[in-house]
Amino acid sequence: MTAINQTRFPFDNSYARLPEDFFAPVPPGTVASPRLIRFNESLAVELGLPHLGDAEKTAIFSGNELPGGAQPIAMAYSGHQFGHFSPELGDGRAILLGEIVDRNGRRRDVQLKGSGPTPFSRRGDGRAALGPVMREYLVSEAFHALGVPATRALAAVTTGERVYREVALPGAVLTRVASSHIRVGTFQYFAARRDREAIMRLVEYVIDRHYPDARQAERPARALYENVVARQAQLVARWMQIGFIHGVMNTDNMSVSGETIDFGPCAFMDHYDPAMVFSSIDTGGRYAYSNQPIVAQWNLARLVETLMFLFDPDADKALEMAKESLAAFKDIYQTAWLDGFRRKLGLFGAEDDDAGLVQTFLDTLAATKSDFTIAFRALASALESPPAENPLGAAAFSDWRARWAQRLSRQPQSKTDVAALLRASNPAFIPRNHRIEQAIEAAIDRDDFTRFHEMLAVLSRPYDDQPQYELYARPPQHEERVLQTFCGT
Ligand code: AMP
Ligand code: MG
Repeated sequence: MTAINQTRFPFDNSYARLPEDFFAPVPPGTVASPRLIRFNESLAVELGLPHLGDAEKTAIFSGNELPGGAQPIAMAYSGHQFGHFSPELGDGRAILLGEIVDRNGRRRDVQLKGSGPTPFSRRGDGRAALGPVMREYLVSEAFHALGVPATRALAAVTTGERVYREVALPGAVLTRVASSHIRVGTFQYFAARRDREAIMRLVEYVIDRHYPDARQAERPARALYENVVARQAQLVARWMQIGFIHGVMNTDNMSVSGETIDFGPCAFMDHYDPAMVFSSIDTGGRYAYSNQPIVAQWNLARLVETLMFLFDPDADKALEMAKESLAAFKDIYQTAWLDGFRRKLGLFGAEDDDAGLVQTFLDTLAATKSDFTIAFRALASALESPPAENPLGAAAFSDWRARWAQRLSRQPQSKTDVAALLRASNPAFIPRNHRIEQAIEAAIDRDDFTRFHEMLAVLSRPYDDQPQYELYARPPQHEERVLQTFCGT
Protein backbone atom coordinates (compact mmCIF):
# COMPACT_ATOMS: atom_id res chain seq x y z
CA MET A 1 0.00 0.00 0.00
CA THR A 2 1.13 3.49 -0.81
CA ALA A 3 1.63 5.53 2.35
CA ILE A 4 0.60 9.15 2.70
CA ASN A 5 3.49 11.54 3.16
CA GLN A 6 3.10 14.30 5.76
CA THR A 7 4.08 16.99 3.27
CA ARG A 8 1.19 18.58 1.40
CA PHE A 9 1.57 19.76 -2.18
CA PRO A 10 -0.59 22.75 -3.20
CA PHE A 11 -2.83 20.55 -5.37
CA ASP A 12 -6.12 21.63 -6.91
CA ASN A 13 -7.37 18.62 -8.83
CA SER A 14 -9.87 19.83 -11.41
CA TYR A 15 -9.68 16.76 -13.70
CA ALA A 16 -10.56 14.47 -10.81
CA ARG A 17 -13.75 16.53 -10.38
CA LEU A 18 -14.93 15.63 -13.90
CA PRO A 19 -17.45 12.78 -14.36
CA GLU A 20 -16.13 9.41 -13.24
CA ASP A 21 -15.84 7.87 -16.71
CA PHE A 22 -13.09 10.39 -17.57
CA PHE A 23 -10.55 8.47 -15.48
CA ALA A 24 -9.94 5.63 -13.06
CA PRO A 25 -8.77 6.36 -9.51
CA VAL A 26 -5.64 4.29 -8.86
CA PRO A 27 -2.71 4.70 -6.48
CA PRO A 28 0.83 4.27 -7.77
CA GLY A 29 2.46 0.91 -7.07
CA THR A 30 5.32 0.76 -4.59
CA VAL A 31 8.87 -0.15 -5.58
CA ALA A 32 11.62 -2.14 -3.85
CA SER A 33 14.51 0.25 -3.36
CA PRO A 34 14.12 3.64 -4.97
CA ARG A 35 17.07 5.91 -5.60
CA LEU A 36 16.80 9.53 -6.69
CA ILE A 37 18.78 10.17 -9.86
CA ARG A 38 17.81 13.71 -10.63
CA PHE A 39 15.50 16.38 -9.28
CA ASN A 40 14.65 19.59 -11.11
CA GLU A 41 14.98 22.20 -8.35
CA SER A 42 14.14 25.22 -10.49
CA LEU A 43 10.96 23.58 -11.76
CA ALA A 44 10.02 22.66 -8.18
CA VAL A 45 10.39 26.33 -7.22
CA GLU A 46 8.29 27.38 -10.23
CA LEU A 47 5.59 24.97 -9.07
CA GLY A 48 5.75 26.31 -5.52
CA LEU A 49 6.45 22.85 -4.06
CA PRO A 50 7.29 22.78 -0.35
CA HIS A 51 10.89 22.09 0.63
CA LEU A 52 11.60 18.37 0.38
CA GLY A 53 14.50 16.40 1.81
CA ASP A 54 16.16 13.73 -0.34
CA ALA A 55 14.38 10.89 1.46
CA GLU A 56 11.01 12.54 0.87
CA LYS A 57 11.76 13.23 -2.79
CA THR A 58 12.79 9.61 -3.27
CA ALA A 59 9.67 8.28 -1.54
CA ILE A 60 7.26 10.59 -3.36
CA PHE A 61 8.70 10.48 -6.88
CA SER A 62 9.04 6.70 -6.86
CA GLY A 63 5.36 6.35 -5.99
CA ASN A 64 6.10 4.83 -2.58
CA GLU A 65 4.44 7.71 -0.76
CA LEU A 66 1.69 10.04 -1.90
CA PRO A 67 2.14 13.73 -1.14
CA GLY A 68 -0.76 15.17 0.85
CA GLY A 69 -3.55 16.46 -1.37
CA ALA A 70 -2.83 14.04 -4.23
CA GLN A 71 -5.77 12.31 -5.92
CA PRO A 72 -4.07 9.73 -8.10
CA ILE A 73 -5.92 8.88 -11.31
CA ALA A 74 -5.25 7.26 -14.67
CA MET A 75 -6.83 9.21 -17.52
CA ALA A 76 -9.02 7.56 -20.16
CA TYR A 77 -8.28 8.06 -23.86
CA SER A 78 -8.35 6.36 -27.24
CA GLY A 79 -6.05 6.87 -30.18
CA HIS A 80 -5.18 6.24 -33.78
CA GLN A 81 -1.90 4.34 -33.68
CA PHE A 82 -0.19 4.30 -37.06
CA GLY A 83 -3.58 4.96 -38.59
CA HIS A 84 -5.48 2.22 -36.73
CA PHE A 85 -8.02 3.18 -34.14
CA SER A 86 -7.79 1.75 -30.61
CA PRO A 87 -10.85 2.78 -28.62
CA GLU A 88 -9.33 1.61 -25.33
CA LEU A 89 -5.92 3.09 -24.47
CA GLY A 90 -5.65 5.39 -21.45
CA ASP A 91 -2.80 5.83 -18.98
CA GLY A 92 -1.45 2.30 -18.81
CA ARG A 93 1.74 3.23 -17.03
CA ALA A 94 1.17 6.79 -15.90
CA ILE A 95 -0.64 8.17 -12.89
CA LEU A 96 -1.67 11.78 -12.48
CA LEU A 97 -0.96 12.81 -8.88
CA GLY A 98 -2.77 16.10 -9.25
CA GLU A 99 -2.64 19.65 -10.57
CA ILE A 100 -0.81 22.64 -9.21
CA VAL A 101 -1.41 26.26 -10.13
CA ASP A 102 2.20 27.44 -10.39
CA ARG A 103 3.76 30.75 -9.37
CA ASN A 104 2.86 32.25 -12.74
CA GLY A 105 -0.78 31.25 -12.36
CA ARG A 106 -0.47 28.38 -14.86
CA ARG A 107 -2.21 25.11 -14.03
CA ARG A 108 0.19 22.16 -14.38
CA ASP A 109 -0.29 18.38 -14.17
CA VAL A 110 2.16 16.41 -12.05
CA GLN A 111 2.27 12.84 -13.32
CA LEU A 112 4.29 9.75 -12.49
CA LYS A 113 5.29 7.66 -15.50
CA GLY A 114 6.26 4.03 -14.93
CA SER A 115 4.58 3.78 -11.55
CA GLY A 116 2.75 0.49 -11.95
CA PRO A 117 -0.37 -0.98 -13.54
CA THR A 118 -3.68 0.80 -13.93
CA PRO A 119 -7.07 -0.36 -15.23
CA PHE A 120 -5.78 0.76 -18.67
CA SER A 121 -2.60 -1.36 -18.65
CA ARG A 122 -4.00 -4.16 -20.83
CA ARG A 123 -1.11 -6.64 -21.07
CA GLY A 124 1.52 -4.09 -20.06
CA ASP A 125 3.32 -4.04 -16.72
CA GLY A 126 2.79 -0.34 -16.09
CA ARG A 127 6.51 0.12 -15.65
CA ALA A 128 9.23 2.05 -17.45
CA ALA A 129 12.85 1.16 -18.10
CA LEU A 130 15.67 3.50 -17.13
CA GLY A 131 16.75 4.22 -20.72
CA PRO A 132 13.48 5.78 -21.91
CA VAL A 133 13.18 7.72 -18.63
CA MET A 134 16.64 9.24 -19.18
CA ARG A 135 15.84 9.95 -22.82
CA GLU A 136 12.60 11.74 -21.97
CA TYR A 137 14.32 13.70 -19.19
CA LEU A 138 17.12 14.84 -21.50
CA VAL A 139 15.03 15.64 -24.53
CA SER A 140 12.14 17.39 -22.78
CA GLU A 141 14.49 19.58 -20.75
CA ALA A 142 16.48 20.34 -23.91
CA PHE A 143 13.21 21.43 -25.56
CA HIS A 144 12.54 23.80 -22.71
CA ALA A 145 15.96 25.42 -23.07
CA LEU A 146 15.55 25.59 -26.86
CA GLY A 147 12.28 27.47 -26.33
CA VAL A 148 10.04 24.83 -27.93
CA PRO A 149 6.82 23.97 -26.03
CA ALA A 150 7.07 20.59 -24.30
CA THR A 151 6.26 18.76 -21.11
CA ARG A 152 8.93 19.07 -18.42
CA ALA A 153 10.79 16.58 -16.25
CA LEU A 154 10.63 17.09 -12.49
CA ALA A 155 12.32 13.95 -11.19
CA ALA A 156 13.87 10.63 -12.18
CA VAL A 157 14.12 7.74 -9.73
CA THR A 158 15.40 4.21 -10.24
CA THR A 159 13.25 1.55 -8.64
CA GLY A 160 15.77 -1.15 -7.76
CA GLU A 161 13.53 -3.53 -9.69
CA ARG A 162 13.96 -5.08 -13.10
CA VAL A 163 11.57 -4.61 -15.96
CA TYR A 164 11.43 -7.16 -18.73
CA ARG A 165 11.41 -5.97 -22.32
CA GLU A 166 13.38 -8.20 -24.66
CA VAL A 167 15.95 -8.31 -21.87
CA ALA A 168 15.88 -7.45 -18.16
CA LEU A 169 16.50 -3.74 -17.63
CA PRO A 170 16.67 -1.49 -14.59
CA GLY A 171 13.29 0.10 -13.84
CA ALA A 172 12.72 3.80 -13.29
CA VAL A 173 9.96 6.35 -12.71
CA LEU A 174 9.83 9.75 -14.38
CA THR A 175 7.81 12.62 -12.95
CA ARG A 176 6.42 14.66 -15.80
CA VAL A 177 4.89 18.11 -15.63
CA ALA A 178 2.51 19.17 -18.40
CA SER A 179 0.12 22.04 -18.94
CA SER A 180 -2.36 19.17 -19.23
CA HIS A 181 -2.44 15.60 -20.50
CA ILE A 182 -5.54 16.04 -22.63
CA ARG A 183 -4.96 14.58 -26.06
CA VAL A 184 -6.76 14.34 -29.37
CA GLY A 185 -7.37 10.79 -28.20
CA THR A 186 -9.24 12.03 -25.12
CA PHE A 187 -11.92 13.48 -27.42
CA GLN A 188 -11.88 10.31 -29.49
CA TYR A 189 -12.53 8.22 -26.39
CA PHE A 190 -15.96 9.78 -25.92
CA ALA A 191 -16.69 10.03 -29.65
CA ALA A 192 -16.15 6.27 -29.91
CA ARG A 193 -18.77 5.87 -27.18
CA ARG A 194 -21.11 8.36 -28.89
CA ASP A 195 -21.17 10.26 -25.62
CA ARG A 196 -21.94 13.80 -26.76
CA GLU A 197 -22.54 15.02 -23.26
CA ALA A 198 -19.03 14.01 -22.25
CA ILE A 199 -17.58 15.76 -25.29
CA MET A 200 -19.45 18.92 -24.38
CA ARG A 201 -18.09 18.65 -20.86
CA LEU A 202 -14.56 18.13 -22.18
CA VAL A 203 -14.87 21.10 -24.55
CA GLU A 204 -15.91 23.31 -21.64
CA TYR A 205 -13.02 22.03 -19.58
CA VAL A 206 -10.41 22.57 -22.30
CA ILE A 207 -11.71 26.06 -23.03
CA ASP A 208 -11.50 26.99 -19.34
CA ARG A 209 -8.06 25.49 -18.93
CA HIS A 210 -6.29 26.31 -22.19
CA TYR A 211 -8.24 28.70 -24.37
CA PRO A 212 -10.41 30.93 -22.16
CA ASP A 213 -10.78 33.53 -24.94
CA ALA A 214 -12.74 30.99 -26.98
CA ARG A 215 -15.58 31.37 -24.50
CA GLN A 216 -16.32 34.83 -25.95
CA ALA A 217 -16.52 33.55 -29.54
CA GLU A 218 -19.80 33.08 -31.39
CA ARG A 219 -19.03 29.35 -31.61
CA PRO A 220 -16.78 28.47 -28.68
CA ALA A 221 -16.16 24.85 -29.75
CA ARG A 222 -15.02 26.01 -33.16
CA ALA A 223 -12.83 28.73 -31.65
CA LEU A 224 -11.30 26.10 -29.38
CA TYR A 225 -10.60 23.88 -32.36
CA GLU A 226 -9.03 26.69 -34.36
CA ASN A 227 -6.75 27.47 -31.42
CA VAL A 228 -5.61 23.86 -31.29
CA VAL A 229 -4.97 23.88 -35.04
CA ALA A 230 -2.88 27.06 -34.75
CA ARG A 231 -0.83 25.81 -31.79
CA GLN A 232 -0.16 22.48 -33.47
CA ALA A 233 0.89 24.13 -36.74
CA GLN A 234 3.29 26.40 -34.88
CA LEU A 235 4.64 23.53 -32.81
CA VAL A 236 5.41 21.28 -35.76
CA ALA A 237 7.10 24.20 -37.55
CA ARG A 238 9.39 24.52 -34.51
CA TRP A 239 10.20 20.78 -34.67
CA MET A 240 11.23 21.19 -38.28
CA GLN A 241 13.48 24.10 -37.36
CA ILE A 242 15.42 22.08 -34.77
CA GLY A 243 15.56 18.88 -36.83
CA PHE A 244 13.33 16.93 -34.47
CA ILE A 245 11.52 13.74 -35.37
CA HIS A 246 8.84 12.80 -32.86
CA GLY A 247 8.59 9.21 -34.00
CA VAL A 248 5.09 8.29 -32.75
CA MET A 249 2.65 11.00 -33.77
CA ASN A 250 -0.37 8.90 -32.87
CA THR A 251 -3.48 10.86 -31.89
CA ASP A 252 -3.01 9.76 -28.29
CA ASN A 253 0.39 11.47 -28.34
CA MET A 254 -0.87 14.85 -29.52
CA SER A 255 -1.68 17.27 -26.73
CA VAL A 256 -4.47 19.79 -27.28
CA SER A 257 -2.42 22.36 -25.37
CA GLY A 258 0.19 22.46 -28.14
CA GLU A 259 3.04 21.01 -26.08
CA THR A 260 5.30 18.27 -27.38
CA ILE A 261 4.43 15.15 -25.41
CA ASP A 262 5.64 11.54 -25.19
CA PHE A 263 9.30 11.41 -26.05
CA GLY A 264 9.42 7.75 -27.02
CA PRO A 265 11.58 6.71 -29.96
CA CYS A 266 12.13 10.37 -30.87
CA ALA A 267 15.41 11.71 -32.22
CA PHE A 268 17.12 14.77 -33.61
CA MET A 269 18.63 14.21 -36.99
CA ASP A 270 22.33 14.61 -37.53
CA HIS A 271 22.79 14.92 -41.30
CA TYR A 272 19.85 16.51 -43.06
CA ASP A 273 17.57 14.03 -44.77
CA PRO A 274 13.86 14.90 -45.12
CA ALA A 275 12.91 11.21 -45.32
CA MET A 276 14.62 10.40 -42.02
CA VAL A 277 12.91 7.92 -39.68
CA PHE A 278 14.44 6.54 -36.47
CA SER A 279 11.67 4.63 -34.75
CA SER A 280 12.04 0.87 -35.02
CA ILE A 281 8.27 0.46 -35.18
CA ASP A 282 7.74 3.04 -37.94
CA THR A 283 8.51 0.68 -40.76
CA GLY A 284 6.43 2.55 -43.36
CA GLY A 285 7.97 5.94 -42.57
CA ARG A 286 4.57 7.34 -41.66
CA TYR A 287 6.20 9.67 -39.13
CA ALA A 288 9.29 10.64 -41.15
CA TYR A 289 10.64 14.18 -40.67
CA SER A 290 9.00 15.69 -43.73
CA ASN A 291 5.67 13.95 -43.08
CA GLN A 292 5.18 15.57 -39.69
CA PRO A 293 3.07 18.55 -40.85
CA ILE A 294 0.91 16.23 -42.95
CA VAL A 295 0.37 13.85 -40.06
CA ALA A 296 -0.41 16.71 -37.67
CA GLN A 297 -3.15 17.78 -40.06
CA TRP A 298 -4.43 14.21 -40.33
CA ASN A 299 -4.62 14.04 -36.53
CA LEU A 300 -6.44 17.36 -36.40
CA ALA A 301 -8.99 15.99 -38.86
CA ARG A 302 -9.61 13.17 -36.38
CA LEU A 303 -10.11 15.80 -33.66
CA VAL A 304 -12.64 17.85 -35.59
CA GLU A 305 -14.71 14.76 -36.33
CA THR A 306 -15.33 14.42 -32.61
CA LEU A 307 -16.57 17.94 -31.94
CA MET A 308 -17.92 19.46 -35.14
CA PHE A 309 -21.47 18.58 -34.08
CA LEU A 310 -21.05 21.55 -31.74
CA PHE A 311 -20.22 23.95 -34.60
CA ASP A 312 -23.74 24.07 -36.04
CA PRO A 313 -27.01 22.16 -35.61
CA ASP A 314 -27.05 21.69 -39.41
CA ALA A 315 -24.62 18.81 -40.07
CA ASP A 316 -23.73 20.01 -43.58
CA LYS A 317 -22.92 23.49 -42.36
CA ALA A 318 -20.91 22.04 -39.49
CA LEU A 319 -18.90 19.94 -41.92
CA GLU A 320 -18.14 22.97 -44.10
CA MET A 321 -16.92 24.87 -41.05
CA ALA A 322 -14.81 21.93 -39.95
CA LYS A 323 -13.12 21.75 -43.34
CA GLU A 324 -12.48 25.46 -43.38
CA SER A 325 -11.02 25.50 -39.87
CA LEU A 326 -8.78 22.54 -40.60
CA ALA A 327 -7.62 24.06 -43.88
CA ALA A 328 -6.23 27.03 -41.93
CA PHE A 329 -3.44 24.72 -40.78
CA LYS A 330 -1.57 25.06 -44.04
CA ASP A 331 -1.17 28.84 -43.99
CA ILE A 332 -0.36 29.01 -40.29
CA TYR A 333 2.21 26.26 -40.68
CA GLN A 334 3.84 27.79 -43.75
CA THR A 335 4.02 31.22 -42.13
CA ALA A 336 5.52 29.78 -38.95
CA TRP A 337 7.92 27.62 -40.96
CA LEU A 338 9.14 30.52 -43.08
CA ASP A 339 9.35 33.02 -40.20
CA GLY A 340 11.46 30.60 -38.19
CA PHE A 341 13.76 29.69 -41.07
CA ARG A 342 14.15 33.38 -41.94
CA ARG A 343 15.53 33.96 -38.46
CA LYS A 344 17.75 30.92 -38.86
CA LEU A 345 19.25 32.64 -41.93
CA GLY A 346 19.66 35.93 -40.08
CA LEU A 347 16.83 37.70 -41.90
CA PHE A 348 14.89 40.35 -40.01
CA GLY A 349 12.30 41.24 -42.62
CA ALA A 350 10.56 39.48 -45.52
CA GLU A 351 11.25 39.35 -49.22
CA ASP A 352 9.34 37.37 -51.83
CA ASP A 353 12.04 34.85 -52.58
CA ASP A 354 12.94 33.98 -48.99
CA ALA A 355 11.24 30.58 -49.14
CA GLY A 356 13.39 29.78 -52.16
CA LEU A 357 16.53 30.86 -50.33
CA VAL A 358 15.68 28.57 -47.41
CA GLN A 359 14.76 25.66 -49.65
CA THR A 360 17.95 25.89 -51.70
CA PHE A 361 19.99 25.84 -48.49
CA LEU A 362 18.10 22.76 -47.27
CA ASP A 363 18.49 21.06 -50.66
CA THR A 364 22.21 21.70 -50.53
CA LEU A 365 22.37 20.24 -47.02
CA ALA A 366 20.59 17.14 -48.29
CA ALA A 367 22.82 16.81 -51.35
CA THR A 368 26.00 17.14 -49.27
CA LYS A 369 24.63 15.11 -46.31
CA SER A 370 25.60 18.01 -44.07
CA ASP A 371 24.85 18.03 -40.38
CA PHE A 372 21.67 20.11 -39.94
CA THR A 373 22.56 21.72 -36.60
CA ILE A 374 26.19 22.41 -37.42
CA ALA A 375 25.42 23.89 -40.84
CA PHE A 376 22.94 26.41 -39.45
CA ARG A 377 25.23 27.24 -36.53
CA ALA A 378 28.07 27.76 -39.02
CA LEU A 379 26.18 30.60 -40.70
CA ALA A 380 27.20 33.01 -37.94
CA SER A 381 30.90 32.37 -38.51
CA ALA A 382 30.44 32.21 -42.29
CA LEU A 383 29.53 35.90 -42.03
CA GLU A 384 33.04 36.69 -40.82
CA SER A 385 35.64 34.02 -41.34
CA PRO A 386 37.14 32.76 -44.60
CA PRO A 387 35.01 29.98 -46.05
CA ALA A 388 37.85 27.42 -45.86
CA GLU A 389 37.47 27.13 -42.09
CA ASN A 390 33.76 26.71 -42.33
CA PRO A 391 31.62 23.71 -43.32
CA LEU A 392 29.75 26.09 -45.61
CA GLY A 393 33.02 26.88 -47.37
CA ALA A 394 32.52 23.81 -49.58
CA ALA A 395 32.09 24.50 -53.29
CA ALA A 396 28.54 23.12 -53.16
CA PHE A 397 27.52 26.13 -51.09
CA SER A 398 29.26 28.87 -53.08
CA ASP A 399 26.30 29.93 -55.27
CA TRP A 400 24.00 29.85 -52.32
CA ARG A 401 26.43 31.88 -50.19
CA ALA A 402 26.57 34.60 -52.83
CA ARG A 403 22.78 34.75 -52.99
CA TRP A 404 22.56 34.86 -49.20
CA ALA A 405 25.18 37.65 -49.02
CA GLN A 406 23.14 39.63 -51.56
CA ARG A 407 20.00 39.15 -49.52
CA LEU A 408 21.75 40.22 -46.30
CA SER A 409 23.14 43.32 -48.00
CA ARG A 410 19.61 44.48 -48.71
CA GLN A 411 18.69 44.67 -45.01
CA PRO A 412 19.73 47.60 -42.81
CA GLN A 413 20.93 45.60 -39.78
CA SER A 414 24.63 45.44 -38.98
CA LYS A 415 26.71 42.30 -39.25
CA THR A 416 26.82 42.19 -35.46
CA ASP A 417 23.04 42.18 -35.28
CA VAL A 418 22.76 39.50 -37.94
CA ALA A 419 25.33 37.33 -36.14
CA ALA A 420 23.43 37.75 -32.87
CA LEU A 421 20.16 36.72 -34.52
CA LEU A 422 21.87 33.71 -36.11
CA ARG A 423 23.32 32.57 -32.78
CA ALA A 424 19.99 33.03 -31.00
CA SER A 425 18.12 31.05 -33.68
CA ASN A 426 20.55 28.21 -34.34
CA PRO A 427 21.52 26.09 -31.33
CA ALA A 428 25.06 24.78 -30.95
CA PHE A 429 23.79 21.92 -28.81
CA ILE A 430 20.93 19.49 -29.30
CA PRO A 431 20.46 16.16 -27.52
CA ARG A 432 22.27 14.05 -30.07
CA ASN A 433 21.14 10.50 -30.26
CA HIS A 434 24.54 8.84 -29.94
CA ARG A 435 25.31 10.89 -26.82
CA ILE A 436 21.95 9.97 -25.29
CA GLU A 437 22.67 6.30 -25.98
CA GLN A 438 26.14 6.61 -24.46
CA ALA A 439 24.72 8.28 -21.35
CA ILE A 440 22.14 5.50 -21.01
CA GLU A 441 24.74 2.80 -21.53
CA ALA A 442 27.03 4.26 -18.84
CA ALA A 443 24.09 4.36 -16.43
CA ILE A 444 22.96 0.80 -17.11
CA ASP A 445 26.36 -0.87 -17.41
CA ARG A 446 28.35 1.04 -14.80
CA ASP A 447 25.76 2.88 -12.73
CA ASP A 448 27.52 6.02 -13.95
CA PHE A 449 25.28 9.07 -14.40
CA THR A 450 28.10 11.57 -15.02
CA ARG A 451 27.33 11.89 -18.71
CA PHE A 452 23.61 12.29 -18.04
CA HIS A 453 24.15 15.18 -15.62
CA GLU A 454 26.80 16.77 -17.83
CA MET A 455 24.52 16.62 -20.86
CA LEU A 456 21.70 18.23 -18.92
CA ALA A 457 24.02 21.08 -17.92
CA VAL A 458 25.23 21.62 -21.49
CA LEU A 459 21.74 21.40 -22.97
CA SER A 460 20.40 23.97 -20.53
CA ARG A 461 22.35 26.61 -22.55
CA PRO A 462 21.97 25.38 -26.12
CA TYR A 463 22.57 28.73 -27.81
CA ASP A 464 25.86 29.45 -26.00
CA ASP A 465 29.21 28.34 -27.35
CA GLN A 466 30.63 26.02 -24.73
CA PRO A 467 34.00 25.09 -26.21
CA GLN A 468 34.88 22.78 -23.30
CA TYR A 469 31.85 20.66 -24.25
CA GLU A 470 32.57 20.41 -27.97
CA LEU A 471 32.07 16.66 -27.49
CA TYR A 472 28.32 17.22 -27.33
CA ALA A 473 28.22 19.43 -30.42
CA ARG A 474 29.93 16.94 -32.72
CA PRO A 475 27.95 14.62 -34.98
CA PRO A 476 28.52 10.89 -34.49
CA GLN A 477 31.55 9.10 -35.91
CA HIS A 478 30.50 6.42 -38.35
CA GLU A 479 30.57 3.70 -35.67
CA GLU A 480 28.72 5.88 -33.15
CA ARG A 481 25.72 6.43 -35.37
CA VAL A 482 22.35 5.39 -33.96
CA LEU A 483 20.09 4.35 -36.78
CA GLN A 484 17.11 3.17 -34.79
CA THR A 485 15.40 4.16 -31.58
CA PHE A 486 13.04 1.97 -29.60
CA CYS A 487 9.97 2.67 -27.51
CA GLY A 488 11.25 0.14 -25.01
CA THR A 489 8.78 1.38 -22.48
P1 AMP B 1 2.89 5.27 -25.95
O1 AMP B 1 3.54 4.46 -27.01
O2 AMP B 1 3.84 5.61 -24.83
O3 AMP B 1 2.25 6.49 -26.46
O4 AMP B 1 1.77 4.35 -25.30
C1 AMP B 1 0.66 3.89 -26.01
C2 AMP B 1 -0.30 3.22 -25.07
O5 AMP B 1 0.26 2.03 -24.51
C3 AMP B 1 -0.74 4.06 -23.89
O6 AMP B 1 -2.08 3.77 -23.61
C4 AMP B 1 0.16 3.58 -22.78
O7 AMP B 1 -0.41 3.80 -21.51
C5 AMP B 1 0.27 2.09 -23.10
N1 AMP B 1 1.52 1.51 -22.57
C6 AMP B 1 2.76 1.68 -23.07
N2 AMP B 1 3.67 1.02 -22.34
C7 AMP B 1 3.00 0.39 -21.34
C8 AMP B 1 3.37 -0.46 -20.25
N3 AMP B 1 4.65 -0.79 -20.02
N4 AMP B 1 2.39 -0.91 -19.45
C9 AMP B 1 1.11 -0.57 -19.65
N5 AMP B 1 0.70 0.22 -20.66
C10 AMP B 1 1.62 0.71 -21.50
MG1 MG C 1 1.51 8.00 -25.32
